[in-house]
Amino acid sequence: MEKIHTDELPLTTNSSEKQETVCIFGTGDFGRSLGFKLLQCGYPVVFGSRNPRMSSLLPKGAEVLSHSEAAQKSDIIIIAIHREHYDFLTELTEVLNGKILVDISNNLKINQYPESNAEHLAQLVPGAHVVKAFNTISAWALQSGALDASRQVFVSGNDSTAKQRVMDLVRALGLTPLDQGSLVAAKEIENYPLQLFPMWRFPLRLSAVLCLFLFLYCVIRDVIYPYVYEKKDETFRLAVSIPNRVFPIAALTLLALVYLPGVIAAILQLYRGTKYRRFPAWLDHWMLCRKQLGLVALGFAFLHAIYTLVIPIRYYVRWRLKNLTVTQVITNKDSPFIPSSAWLNDAYVSLGILGFFLFVLLGITSLPSVSNTVNWREFRFVQSKLGYLTLILCTAHTLVYGGKKFLNPSFLRWCLPSAYVLALIIPCTVLVIKFILIMPCIDKTLTRIRQGWERNPKISSALNGKTDI
Ligand code: NAP
Repeated sequence: MEKIHTDELPLTTNSSEKQETVCIFGTGDFGRSLGFKLLQCGYPVVFGSRNPRMSSLLPKGAEVLSHSEAAQKSDIIIIAIHREHYDFLTELTEVLNGKILVDISNNLKINQYPESNAEHLAQLVPGAHVVKAFNTISAWALQSGALDASRQVFVSGNDSTAKQRVMDLVRALGLTPLDQGSLVAAKEIENYPLQLFPMWRFPLRLSAVLCLFLFLYCVIRDVIYPYVYEKKDETFRLAVSIPNRVFPIAALTLLALVYLPGVIAAILQLYRGTKYRRFPAWLDHWMLCRKQLGLVALGFAFLHAIYTLVIPIRYYVRWRLKNLTVTQVITNKDSPFIPSSAWLNDAYVSLGILGFFLFVLLGITSLPSVSNTVNWREFRFVQSKLGYLTLILCTAHTLVYGGKKFLNPSFLRWCLPSAYVLALIIPCTVLVIKFILIMPCIDKTLTRIRQGWERNPKISSALNGKTDI
């Protein structure tokens, strides 16, 4: 953690409004950063320290006292100390009686201790009102100004008045408090900063496996096969041609995988005749990762668009064009203009552009700053209706590109069809099932189920453990 030089930082205290004094135990990185921020917002700050001496690192204007002297000056005490050093607080139980103790601590590992640090603190000082807060904000973010990603402060505590006062303090610092309920929630709040992209793991792993598989598939078809049968060196395709095949296929497949769990869930609900039975855990997790899957798919679509733009400047493409022109001049023959080919070509390009445009729109609306401005119905319209339209356009783009050649047996290499055929399997499956699901007779039953109707309420409540059958 970089040390702050508080002398260089401006202090903007609001003298007209006298704020309550806030006490901070611990003059480490977090204590100092929070103290500085509090002073900036007009709160008098008193530090409780083992060595009560003013140092140049501490914010100007703050007082430094012993723990017990500092605690007497304030109702709110922020414990900016690691959990391992909490034991000394038992000696201060008398002075801490009735005070609000704010536990900001984090651990090194998820579920490191049987009980949360905040609950441990509450056991050490039973007369105090312990509130968990601030642990998801870094000292760096406090110093550099609250950034979007770190504005949210999860707050939990058993005493509602104490919790409210801490939430007011959080708001006064320009941060956003999120009430997480009682102190039981502290464990989850403490685990939160230790998680590493939990929702991104599945989408990233899946796309890595998918890309690797598609890459090897294309290498076998487009590099190894020509070498074995025609002794042609096509290895140059590894740089642009093959990635520009892998990326669109990955994009389309992942986009379809965003919508596949929805149709699986609908089939399950129809089969069970109720919405009150839990989905299997894998389906739940898959549904929760849909946004991330969609964003990874959008990333691949972007790569495909960029790779496609460079096609005209590629050496291989320019060489082929030149050769074709020279051959036509020598043989005095030109190739006839085929309107159907022009149509197909323009159609697939146009479908690709429209699909990409809607894809970007979907990505933009999934950003929290945008989704916060639309209501639930608008969000569902964009993500579901426009999402399916994007899937249709992108699938049509691939279908039109392949045209009849996908079905031509001469396109098989070692019995392997073109990689684009693989790209169509999941999207077409999703679209066909979706089409069946929106047929009025099925859609009516599904809508009733989603509104709470049950084919056999006894079975569902028994399976949910409510009654015996
Ligand atoms: P730090 O720089 O190591 O400071 C901890 C402070 O605790 C020390 O400066 C010391 O202050 C006090 N202390 C150390 N040993 C002690 C002992 N045996 N008895 C009593 N007091 C002792 O740590 P930090 O980074 O500020 O973190 C403090 C707490 O904030 C931790 O629980 C951490 O998980 C949490 N947190 C930190 C960050 C961050 O970005 N740093 C973010 C969120 C949460 P005195 O010398 O003044 O007594």
